[in-house]
Amino acid sequence: GGGEGTNDDNSVRVCVRVRPLNAKEDAAPGATRILRYVGPRSLELVVGEEAKQYSFDLCANEGCSQAEFFSACGLVPLLNAAADGYACTVFAYGATGSGKTFCLSGLEQLQASRGGQGGGGGLQGGAGESEGLVPRSMAHLFERMARSNAAADTRYRVRASYCEVYNEQVFDLLHLQKTPLQVRHNAKRGFFVQGLFEVESLDDMMAVVEEGNGNRRVASHLLNQDSSRSHSILTASLPYYVRPLTVYLQSEWGDAEDGRTIKKFGKAANERETGSINRSLMTLGKVISALSQQGKGVGGGADAPDIWVPYRDSTLTKLLMDSLGGNGLTLMLACISPSAMHLEETTSTLNYAARARNI
Ligand code: ADP
Repeated sequence: GGGEGTNDDNSVRVCVRVRPLNAKEDAAPGATRILRYVGPRSLELVVGEEAKQYSFDLCANEGCSQAEFFSACGLVPLLNAAADGYACTVFAYGATGSGKTFCLSGLEQLQASRGGQGGGGGLQGGAGESEGLVPRSMAHLFERMARSNAAADTRYRVRASYCEVYNEQVFDLLHLQKTPLQVRHNAKRGFFVQGLFEVESLDDMMAVVEEGNGNRRVASHLLNQDSSRSHSILTASLPYYVRPLTVYLQSEWGDAEDGRTIKKFGKAANERETGSINRSLMTLGKVISALSQQGKGVGGGADAPDIWVPYRDSTLTKLLMDSLGGNGLTLMLACISPSAMHLEETTSTLNYAARARNI
């Protein structure tokens, strides 16, 4: 495998996913597409006579199914690394309506089928083609843990939490209240959210996803939030009974003697869409930029440029610090529309994603 076009040495893997045109875009005069697929790892942004080429670890086109995307995006190796004790992060980035929720949860489809609206996707017990990366990841991890527990070589416990960062404050999506939780720091854990509610069983983990997703909407009413400006972070931790410490970010529980693994699914809206300051998103951009400049020095030997990475400037980057900057793995999913109607957002997302790829 491997080969050119991948950046296996880099800690951030960047996949672009293009969603199909929606009805409105399709009905727009000309219904112009501004993307041209050059290959599985490259695409061109075509504006008039100009074409700008971008390379990523994967460029998934409009026809890519959820199952295909799950296997092609590199999440399975990341999940296996997570089960081996590395802090790993998956985050989706893109403008509102670009497909982040679809990618991560396939939520709409799941809810439609559960709500008995008639035309449901025929999903049984939460399994089905329209499921996104999160339920598929859970299923993968469950299998792995069940096998391992049965073989009694490694025993996993699991804990999960789900929170959101809004206006630099952290709210618990499993236990909604108006008072934000505190982000604290200590040497053993790094940054963590104090008092975050957690579930402790495999079954509850599935419920966390649904409940948390539902509460994202409730939160926007209860707390009067503009949901396009919130970042939600789902964390699953799989501590071995016996393993050396891995510093972790998201959860309150656990003690320093536990080794543990973290998997987070974050969600970031595109900064352009609100036109207002979103400190976490701006800082994430700066962090990615700084890390990418450092990254350029790494291959060159001992002279990696010593660039300040401003993790501490925002809540989101504090919480992602361990996996972005440490020895964990990060998967960035950049979601875009192929329509000319979204040229500005798509350009911005592709440029952001291209920078992240240099980390
Ligand atoms: P976001 O979370 O980025 O705001 P959504 O995931 O809600 O965007 O996507 C917006 C709409 O587009 C939804 O109706 C969603 O079902 C649809 N959509 C997004 N990506 C795809 C895709 N790859 N295939 C089919 N429909 C998609």
